[in-house]
Amino acid sequence: MRSGALAIFWFRASIRLFNSMLDSNSETLRRVLKADLHLASFNSSCWSAQVSNVFNRLQGSAIVKQKMLRANQVPMQGFICNFRFRYLKVRREANYSCPRAVNKKAVTYHKWCGSSESSPRSSPFSIPSYLYKDLDKHVLRNFSRFRLLAHHLRVESCKWHGGSSICDKCECGEVQDEKHVLFFCKCAEVCELRMRYKCFLKECLTLRVFAPSSSEFIPFLTCHHSITDFEINAFLNQDSYRLLKSVSDLVSIFDTG
Ligand SMILES: [Zn+2]
Repeated sequence: MRSGALAIFWFRASIRLFNSMLDSNSETLRRVLKADLHLASFNSSCWSAQVSNVFNRLQGSAIVKQKMLRANQVPMQGFICNFRFRYLKVRREANYSCPRAVNKKAVTYHKWCGSSESSPRSSPFSIPSYLYKDLDKHVLRNFSRFRLLAHHLRVESCKWHGGSSICDKCECGEVQDEKHVLFFCKCAEVCELRMRYKCFLKECLTLRVFAPSSSEFIPFLTCHHSITDFEINAFLNQDSYRLLKSVSDLVSIFDTG
């Protein structure tokens, strides 16, 4: 549920695939599907088990789940509405939470990385526009990883690696999270990256404090500056190749440890 919109697309595509496989004119495909459905009763890692488990989170879905496991068509529309309702509920709850205070992926995603009602990506159910761009696969993958919190920043890696979440690349003593590495980290590599993108950063309204008109560009914000959740979200929702590339390069810096 980290990215509810993508979860909806995944679920809808999975059910469409399931229904079309049932109707397939390929006897072999229908047999493979039925064998997978049989496997689902004792192996939770098979495809049918994973798709059917999504129904466990949806209200009133037990009967439909049984239908699916008995190789019957799944009526889709009711469950997509249910899914959307759940997704909006998560968004509403996230609206009243602070990412750094609760350290929950859903909150961080919705506050900082996800598309908001006022962002250019507008609808929470639309696919982000950068996914339609003809981008280098490495850039696309890294930017998506950053948005979905599937990066190696310490705020996440300490959960599966152990150790501290405090940034080990600078002396700030802050948690090494998305906000820190985007704006506050004083690590030489990150500062060098911001210098390379300083024209872009100067243009960003949210980063006007990086380069006050009367002084030289300083490639980090000091602890006296504050960046709101809204500003972080607006920054990450810009329709800009330079944003995608700079965030991708940022992810690569922290991938190397
Ligand atoms: Zn740092």
